[in-house]
Amino acid sequence: MTYKLVLRESHKDDLVIDVNGVEIGGEKVVIIAGPCSVESLDQILEVAREVKRLGAHMLRGGAFKPRTSPYSFQGLGEEGLKFLSIAREETGLPIVTEVMDPRDIPLVSKYADVLQVGARNMQNFTLLKELGRINKPVLLKRGFSASIDEWLGAAEYILVGGNNKVILCERGIRTFETHTRFTLSVVSIPFVKKLSYLPVIADPSHATGRRDLVIPAAKASVAAGADGLLVEVHPNPDQALSDGPQSLTTKEFGELVREVRRIAEAVGRSL
Ligand code: PEP
Ligand code: MN
Repeated sequence: MTYKLVLRESHKDDLVIDVNGVEIGGEKVVIIAGPCSVESLDQILEVAREVKRLGAHMLRGGAFKPRTSPYSFQGLGEEGLKFLSIAREETGLPIVTEVMDPRDIPLVSKYADVLQVGARNMQNFTLLKELGRINKPVLLKRGFSASIDEWLGAAEYILVGGNNKVILCERGIRTFETHTRFTLSVVSIPFVKKLSYLPVIADPSHATGRRDLVIPAAKASVAAGADGLLVEVHPNPDQALSDGPQSLTTKEFGELVREVRRIAEAVGRSL
């Protein structure tokens, strides 16, 4: 058996995770928005204020970045975490940020409300085991070559340690298609929700890699039952230090919220 604790059989009701007053997995669709990377205090404050005004419920931003090239921007590290916590103080938005290394868990936990495990680390079992021992929610991205069983097996590693506050995130998988960065597996959302009681959200930004496809992918995800969205937003995407091509401007993010609200209402939910 690959997993059992993640299954509905082990927990009758859907899990609702309370993140500083924001509930994930309940009736409301939760929108987590922010830049791929925290680049400066001004940048994160500007995005945080804007996404809050436009309807986001939480703020995302990477301080430790898993970049394909070691020569690319690697993130601001602890300074980035400090900037995120200043943005939280000002806006009240809880923070989601990635932890790549088990040794950084105490540091990241000091600042973050939700710890993200990136797609590239989905099967970093040392990291998963350590995250099972903390008392904070974990956002577990699906690896881009991971089957649903491998993804749920990764979640099981966290649950088995005693932490069941896991949010699953479909962020697109590798296929033969080259027009999009990855391929959003829309049906994995209702399918995983059928198997598991854990909340499932979608990341339309990494799933498509293209700004013009983020809103349609977000709408499809919410129509399919996603409990939330993780969306990259940058005040000036062309100048972004990472993932500019898939980042929405704040104006486009406002449009996303308006469109997604209509879909949420059509499927009996709200934002
Ligand atoms: C991110 O959220 O910026 C990120 C690196 O995502 P993923 O791990 O899904 O590629
Ligand atoms: Mn990114």
